Amino acid sequence: MDLKEEIKNRLNIVNIIGRYVDLKKAGTNYKANCPFHSESTPSFMVSEEMQIFKCFGCNKSGDIFTFLMEMEGIEFKDALNQLGEEAGVDLSKYSFKQNNNKNSIYYEMNETALKFFSYTLLKLPAGKKALNYLKNRGLGEKHIKEFQLGYAPNSWNSLLNYLTKKNYTLEQLNLAGLIKKGSNNYYDVYRGRIIFPLINQGGKIVGFSGRTIINEDPKYINTKDTPIFKKSDYIYNLDKAKTEIRRKKEVMVTEGEFDAITPFIKGIKNIVALKGTAFTTNQAKLLKRYADTAYIFFDSDLAGNLAAVRGIQIAQNLGLDVKVARLPQKYKDPDEAAKQSIDIIYKAIEDSIGAFDYYFEYILKTNDSKEPLDKKKIATFLNPKISSISDPILKSHYIKKLSELLEVEESIIQLEVQETKQNLENIKDTKETIQKKPENGKDALVYLINSDKPIFNKYYKIAKKENLLTEFEKDILEKYKKEVLKDKVSSGVFKKKEGLEDLFLKNTLEKEETSERQEKEIQKILIRRFRETNDKIKKQLSISIKKAEKSHNNSQIKELSKEFNNIMKKEIKF
Ligand SMILES: [Zn+2]
Repeated sequence: MDLKEEIKNRLNIVNIIGRYVDLKKAGTNYKANCPFHSESTPSFMVSEEMQIFKCFGCNKSGDIFTFLMEMEGIEFKDALNQLGEEAGVDLSKYSFKQNNNKNSIYYEMNETALKFFSYTLLKLPAGKKALNYLKNRGLGEKHIKEFQLGYAPNSWNSLLNYLTKKNYTLEQLNLAGLIKKGSNNYYDVYRGRIIFPLINQGGKIVGFSGRTIINEDPKYINTKDTPIFKKSDYIYNLDKAKTEIRRKKEVMVTEGEFDAITPFIKGIKNIVALKGTAFTTNQAKLLKRYADTAYIFFDSDLAGNLAAVRGIQIAQNLGLDVKVARLPQKYKDPDEAAKQSIDIIYKAIEDSIGAFDYYFEYILKTNDSKEPLDKKKIATFLNPKISSISDPILKSHYIKKLSELLEVEESIIQLEVQETKQNLENIKDTKETIQKKPENGKDALVYLINSDKPIFNKYYKIAKKENLLTEFEKDILEKYKKEVLKDKVSSGVFKKKEGLEDLFLKNTLEKEETSERQEKEIQKILIRRFRETNDKIKKQLSISIKKAEKSHNNSQIKELSKEFNNIMKKEIKF
């Protein structure tokens, strides 16, 4: 048996996934709200029998390895190590093939580049100025090592020379975003800059951010998008903060590397930074895996940024409870405030306001609630947000707040909010009907295979005799009888082998049945199919009878009518 199978045999997918999501029993399977996309009714299924998971919302599926890789953002090798250890499998007995992942070359280049940057910062005279700069910002050698900071010397080709000597080609280095092509030559992207390695939640270096210390524009440069890095998906410091975020179910969200680093080293361990001003969908999804609540720190000069407001909405739509933490005006950002005193940060968290209160604050910055035209703008901005609130008490609170603010009657606001909601729901309904087309015609298969042996035998026989099964169903059920009911393979293995996983998981998702209910269901399905078949025959017969009547063929009329009556009398018996 191969290593992967051995580990899978020793562990139970229900236990592994159960650590991350709240699994509820559903028939023979388990279901939960999907950890990979946002939803309010579960479409994420786990089958203990088949040892797989599948989400019918976002279509993610797989085994314990895929789950862990996706959930923790790690590679197969790491998932193997982690699960192997848990299963008590001796991994040293197995030799790993050279990692042939096509992206591994990028990780490798970045790691090698970081060695160069670190060495330059800590060991070379060229790094002296940078080292002093960091010390002035409150970072000692311990912190520099913890965050693996480095320095890119103010030169056009020192990294390039170092890496080409390590046998990387110019083309590879260019694709990794480490060098750039000028009019004649390639040259280093980072020059005279403090280097922050951008590490993903799985601990891999996916890119770099460089802050100038020679007053070059722009202040920060990030790795361009590469096969392993997408700026809009990336979250800084998640590798170090994720354990604490998961423990507290809360995450502090800031904007720049130093805004995460300074509070972190002063004790706020659940802090990250986005490389931009607003949440993107992918960032919010990633954080939702670990946290229920996100506290967002806005720089004071960004407080009126519409992009940031949109980001809040994205995060809220994905199920993150967003709170906005505001620093006193005199502090530019969390880095500055934390350097002064970490208590300022704690105070801002304590005084943070909910997203809805922030929306009010935001729109009132640029609009006057006493001006008629502004009133309209304020209402247009706030109505859809209020209408999205599902809690009735909360909703009525904000309706009241808005009515007082605009000095407009509550009932009018209520009406407007209601209308907005209706419009939004109509759009949603249409979308859902399109998505939820039932997969017809395979119910018989599901119920027969899920039933106990005597029930299976009884109804399978009837269904065959009355010719109520499709060729596909007959084929599968015959195999099922020969393999599973004769104990040659387990039902789980059989379903997987025949590619029936989706069918079975989806069925439990929609219906949870006891064996009695299942028997009733089988009967219902067989009766329905029996009637449908007979109806077709009757229709054909009546057409034939009409034809025979036209041509006054009495003997044929008689024969067909007899047949028709027989069909009418025919019943299916259980
Ligand atoms: Zn999903």
